[in-house]
Amino acid sequence: MINLKIMSTPSLNADITLIGGGVAGLWTQRLLEQSGYSTLLVDKNALGSGQTLASQGMIHGGQRYSLLGHLTEHTKKIAAMPGQWDSCLENRSFPHLKGVASLSQKQHLWSPGGLLSNAASFFASKALQNQARLLKESEWPSVFKANHSFSGKVYELSERVIDVSSLVSFCHAQNKAQTLKGYPVDFQQEKNSISSLVVQTEQGQVNLKSHGFLFTAGLGNEWATQKFLDFFKRAGISRKETNGESAPFCQRRPLRQVVVKEVAHSLYGHCITADPRPRITITTHPGAVWYLGGLVANYGTEHTEKEALSYAYKELYELFPHINWKQCEFGSILVDRAEPFTRAQLLPEDPEILSVNTVGIGWPCKMTFAPLFGSLALEWAMQRVSNKSRFAKIETPTELQAAVGMAPWLASVSWKKPAEFGVR
Ligand SMILES: Cc1cc2nc3c(=O)[nH]c(=O)nc-3n(C[C@H](O)[C@H](O)[C@H](O)COP(=O)(O)OP(=O)(O)OC[C@H]3O[C@@H](n4cnc5c(N)ncnc54)[C@H](O)[C@@H]3O)c2cc1C
Repeated sequence: MINLKIMSTPSLNADITLIGGGVAGLWTQRLLEQSGYSTLLVDKNALGSGQTLASQGMIHGGQRYSLLGHLTEHTKKIAAMPGQWDSCLENRSFPHLKGVASLSQKQHLWSPGGLLSNAASFFASKALQNQARLLKESEWPSVFKANHSFSGKVYELSERVIDVSSLVSFCHAQNKAQTLKGYPVDFQQEKNSISSLVVQTEQGQVNLKSHGFLFTAGLGNEWATQKFLDFFKRAGISRKETNGESAPFCQRRPLRQVVVKEVAHSLYGHCITADPRPRITITTHPGAVWYLGGLVANYGTEHTEKEALSYAYKELYELFPHINWKQCEFGSILVDRAEPFTRAQLLPEDPEILSVNTVGIGWPCKMTFAPLFGSLALEWAMQRVSNKSRFAKIETPTELQAAVGMAPWLASVSWKKPAEFGVR
């Protein structure tokens, strides 16, 4: 083990340094380590504590988009992802992830009932009949069975929901000795190429030397694109707005997710209406927590927390009137999705690694895309490491290793009873 305290100029060497330990960094680290590369994963916070542990963990196969007539590149690429996740979860492909738990093997699509023409044709479509299974009443999730006024339809999709906390803990357990809690503050260059990063840790600065530095830092990628802007400019790499003006490399799209506890039913799925975006997306987490996304989470980005919680309450009351929501507690989580810039400020089609000499800056764009992102990252690493002398596997001192984060509703939510946000 390297004792950084007694070294006059502390330094750590690995074939590839990853900066950012969300799903992109953790997945890539497992993949590279299993492919024979030495790695170091640097995170300024606990692992997963960016978007990853805030995500709903739904591994989409794109059916929902294609059924709604959105046959884009995104839809086609995402269709291959659930199979690739299965392969890793069963240790048939790298990274081996056997031991990572799933919250559900299925997702549901349901109509709230009533006359919503677009949704009605969606639910009658041939495509839906081919890709999803219409459930008999006896097969419905318990929350619909218990709702005697429910008049909608329920379909089942064979798409799993990952337990994201389990994924983060699993990856950490495999490679915790190759993690470092800290953040880059500067870099050194040799012949116009970045040769090392200076990282601030709780015990001072450390010099990291690698053949490649891959930023998988979510919002932290904004720092990297600014820091290496001159390198990108010299390499002629830029992005443009529709009017030809220079655009930033990164975009943020906010969500205000709502959490509700305790709900006595488990549900994983989307409520479909005339709007192509789900009216509400619900996942269920340990502690009988319902985690709400979809349009409910979009609404909250332009409203106060009080308004967002009242809106979520109204939606839940309309959709599941048989549940006594006044007994529950509500909270919200504001989180930005960090993505490569798109002109329309929409979800990019697929993952990306922006690359200039030894530096890469990467976004998976969705957790579902982790296998595709991992393939891009492995190819990127192979190009940087080939023909170079390799660094041995490193072991960071325990006190400098990164810890595992917590789901945001366990860490930072201020829980409120409905009366506190205006429900009488
Ligand atoms: C509310 C929400 C729900 C979602 N639900 C789903 C879903 O159901 N299915 C799906 O496929 N996708 C979903 N997504 C998208 C998915 O979560 C993200 O695409 C994915 O988690 C991004 O992972 P990442 O590793 O790139 O970034 P992050 O998870 O944000 O990780 C970045 C890491 O970098 C670290 N970091 C930041 N700056 C620095 C720095 N300067 N130095 C060192 N470390 C740094 C952070 O601490 C963090 O740990 C959801 C996203 C959100 C916000």
